[in-house]
Amino acid sequence: MRILMVASECFPLIKTGGLADVVGAVPFALEAEGADVTVFLPGFPTVLSGLKSKKTLAKLKDVAGEPAKLITGKTAKGLSIIALDAPHLFNVTGNPYQEKNGLDRADNAIKFAAFSKIAAQLAAGDFKIPEFEIVHAHDWQAGLTAAYLKAMGRDDIKTVQTIHNLAFQGNFPKHIMSNIGLPDEFFRDYGLEYWDKVSYLKGGIVYSDHVTTVSPTYALEIQSDASGMGFGGLLKSRGQDLSGILNGIDLDVWNPETDPDIAANYSAENLAGKAKNKAALQKKMGLRKAKDVPLFCVISRLTTQKGLDVLAGLVDHIVLSGGQLALLGSGDSTIEAAFLAAAKKHPTEVGVQIGYDEPLAHLIQAGADAIFIPSRFEPCGLTQLCAMRYGTVPIAGRVGGLNDTIIDASPAALAKGVATGLLFSDIDVHTLSATIDRAFALYRAPKIWAQMRRNAITQPVGWALSAKAYMALYADLLKAD
Ligand code: ADP
Repeated sequence: MRILMVASECFPLIKTGGLADVVGAVPFALEAEGADVTVFLPGFPTVLSGLKSKKTLAKLKDVAGEPAKLITGKTAKGLSIIALDAPHLFNVTGNPYQEKNGLDRADNAIKFAAFSKIAAQLAAGDFKIPEFEIVHAHDWQAGLTAAYLKAMGRDDIKTVQTIHNLAFQGNFPKHIMSNIGLPDEFFRDYGLEYWDKVSYLKGGIVYSDHVTTVSPTYALEIQSDASGMGFGGLLKSRGQDLSGILNGIDLDVWNPETDPDIAANYSAENLAGKAKNKAALQKKMGLRKAKDVPLFCVISRLTTQKGLDVLAGLVDHIVLSGGQLALLGSGDSTIEAAFLAAAKKHPTEVGVQIGYDEPLAHLIQAGADAIFIPSRFEPCGLTQLCAMRYGTVPIAGRVGGLNDTIIDASPAALAKGVATGLLFSDIDVHTLSATIDRAFALYRAPKIWAQMRRNAITQPVGWALSAKAYMALYADLLKAD
């Protein structure tokens, strides 16, 4: 089965969040199931410089007004990539979608329309390589791919649109319709039109044969006005063709037995190495060295989605209760400032690193006792999966994929010995504070805590099950004709 993944990010070539991790990992799991997967990416500088065995597949005369090239190559791990080398569109450094000042880049609409159009042509066999049977587009940046295939009359190529986060919709002024080469009639209610704008994600939802999102709970949540972010009704109308398939993580990248970025390797059978990592993390973050205090952590975008505004108000509570906090992340300046102020106030108990740091994220996962993910909504979430793989207990909002992947330490789950973390329902100071107290109580019951850790580290958090689910979905779509 020939599958073209269309996405704007792919670890390790270009990453701003979980999308890159998914696109960088799921192809290997699909290939283990017998699929033949190619990933189509924008030719950002790190993508082009990160490819091995590069060849020019095609020279294109006019991509959004300038010449461009299609480059084939492989990642270091052997994943097949085709990149759209169009310097006038993708020669940007830093965040690929936003300027330094946080504003969206002015040419987002043009560049991702061009990207999706070439993706459709690539899938249709226009560039000397065989056609693809399945086109799997990710998020709004690839959202128009199915619309272009529809405009080309290629209903035979089956399309899947995955929504990684409904908050990012790719909505643009309607005048853009005259510049993106789609027929005017696509700008309609059951089409690209969204409150008199053009919505690229809506295009993916409307024109794809199937829509997936990244957890079963999120797939249900988004079919409602409350959580549908404006698309609740539309998603409900597509309910028959909408499903949730959980994300996994790359078990080679996240492996405490071999991880080169942590202070001591360890395994599910012997978690002793975690203590050395805790000491190393305390040192690295300038914290007081202490074995028996619970060391909580955060590795996250610092946004209100992630509920970290609420956690910021509880740092004193954590410290007064005898805990420590190590935080790595960046985002909202007010949330950054709140955590920085807390670190200043409690320099030996709270360590804050503002920024993005992959190796430090590994050391934190290995060294911390528990991780906070108090999200208000969470399509799937990867940090809780990484945490569990490292025997670190997640403390998370009961939403989306967090609900699907964490077993709350309820009295029933504790009695059965199956708990892997703590879940709480209302993202407010009162509820989170009570949950923090619950975490302290569990931590101070060493046998229970040890069991939760063991349960966490033995959870299946890889791609094997989900790859089978995607393969079954693709096979169903191909059978439908
Ligand atoms: P998001 O909504 O940001 O995509 P996910 O939990 O799905 O959230 O994925 C986030 C990914 O990015 C995880 O792999 C997490 O470890 C990583 N991450 C987030 N912030 C940082 C950071 N500041 N430094 C390193 N890795 C980070």
